Amino acid sequence: MESSRPDVTAYVQAIFKPMAIKRISMGRGAVHDGRAELQWEAEVLIAGGAVGGASMAHALAEYDLSSVLLERTPRVAEINRGDVIQPLSLQLLDRWGISPHIEEMGGFPLFEWNFYNPRIGHLATWDFSNIPGKFNHQTILRHRQIHEALYAAMDAKQDRINAQRGATVTGVLFDDEAEVVVGLVGQQDGVDFEARGRVVVAADGARSRLRSYLGIEQEERYIYDHEYLMLTTPRPKVPEMDRKGLQYVGRHGLTVLIPLDGGEEIRIPVQIPAGSLAEWRDISAAELRHRLLLRAPVLKHVDTDAAMDKLSHTYPVGWRHSHEYVKQHVCLIGEAAHTVHPTTAQGMNMAILDAEMLAAVIKRCIAVDGVSDESLKRYERARRPVAERVMETSHHQTLHHTACGIWHDIWGARLYRWDQDEEVKKEISIEIAGLNNPTSKDLKILEEVGLA
Ligand SMILES: Cc1cc2nc3c(=O)[nH]c(=O)nc-3n(C[C@H](O)[C@H](O)[C@H](O)COP(=O)(O)OP(=O)(O)OC[C@H]3O[C@@H](n4cnc5c(N)ncnc54)[C@H](O)[C@@H]3O)c2cc1C
Repeated sequence: MESSRPDVTAYVQAIFKPMAIKRISMGRGAVHDGRAELQWEAEVLIAGGAVGGASMAHALAEYDLSSVLLERTPRVAEINRGDVIQPLSLQLLDRWGISPHIEEMGGFPLFEWNFYNPRIGHLATWDFSNIPGKFNHQTILRHRQIHEALYAAMDAKQDRINAQRGATVTGVLFDDEAEVVVGLVGQQDGVDFEARGRVVVAADGARSRLRSYLGIEQEERYIYDHEYLMLTTPRPKVPEMDRKGLQYVGRHGLTVLIPLDGGEEIRIPVQIPAGSLAEWRDISAAELRHRLLLRAPVLKHVDTDAAMDKLSHTYPVGWRHSHEYVKQHVCLIGEAAHTVHPTTAQGMNMAILDAEMLAAVIKRCIAVDGVSDESLKRYERARRPVAERVMETSHHQTLHHTACGIWHDIWGARLYRWDQDEEVKKEISIEIAGLNNPTSKDLKILEEVGLA
């Protein structure tokens, strides 16, 4: 691996002097046309600093590449999203030095998920304790704390990661001659900024403005008729929930019980028909309890009165895949590139894997191949088919897990027959763990050009 860092300033000055650079707004508002008060530069610019963007910055730092990370929210907020880190992602986070922070914030290992039908009983198990590799478990941590762990680990990497919070990207710097994006512009606390770099990463989520600006279309292959209430209750102190997660599938759809913070509270995504949040908000505590016990009988052991108190919104779900991941030197990662149904807890993990692969490809482009859409598309070729497979697998799980109605009770027992077969059980656990997804090391992205 190369150790001497290239002189970014010299490079950026060299490419910027002679070129015709335009500032283009990505939204309705105009962008500043003079010199911005805040100026940053790095090899890579990252728009969006949630799990995808922050992982990207760490993955780049591992290869000694500098980045400016631009996140519009001023601080890490409480957010109802993925709390489950899969074993392959744990390996990557470990490589980037995030593991001690995850542990410090209370991340705890989960070795098993059990599936139940509320009427039939136990259906199946995902068991991670026998999978290969350093991490034979998932780790559960509140999504906010996963962000915090990623940011805490940046303190030791300030020479490579310039993290800017409260910085909203509103436009791009476009090189008219080369027809590529060479920078990002926006505002931080009312002050204009301009950031310049060689590659731009769009980690700005499902509604990515950069993706829209580039005109990259998405396929919406499946449309779901439901969304999720995200409830919180105390953890039922029963053996079935001791360091284990529970998923109830049945005639009312899917109800997931995720132990948080080592197990004192649980997060409960409850499947409801799309658009029915208002009706749920109106029901009495007794009716809420009745509905929850129908879906997840184990909740009889806990008080459910406050279950809705921390609910701010429902979570709509979707299946959307961008036709391209790379255009005009902008590379899409995470939900900017793909949105998957959360049943198999893959979304955040796909973002982490995208970051790992893209960082290696960028390293290779800068050191050997040269930066061009063609060379950056090595990332798209490596990741898009894998993401497609994971999204299809998740969709098929979704069909089983979220089917409603009486037939589900009958199918339930049949669908989960794989539980009887130890080999099939192991295969499914490995797939969910992400261990079938190649990393840049498996594909020898850097090794084959002598950079590892
Ligand atoms: C109910 C539910 C449960 C889930 N459970 C799991 C799970 O257990 N495991 C799992 O792996 N995944 C799970 N997921 C999916 C996972 O949470 C997401 O896929 C993942 O967090 C996406 O990360 P991201 O960084 O790509 O996008 P986001 O989290 O959407 O982040 C985008 C970021 O970009 C910022 N941004 C946007 N526009 C701009 C701009 N113009 N300028 C600057 N910043 C900008 C936003 O503020 C935001 O911080 C779940 C999702 C849901 C809905």
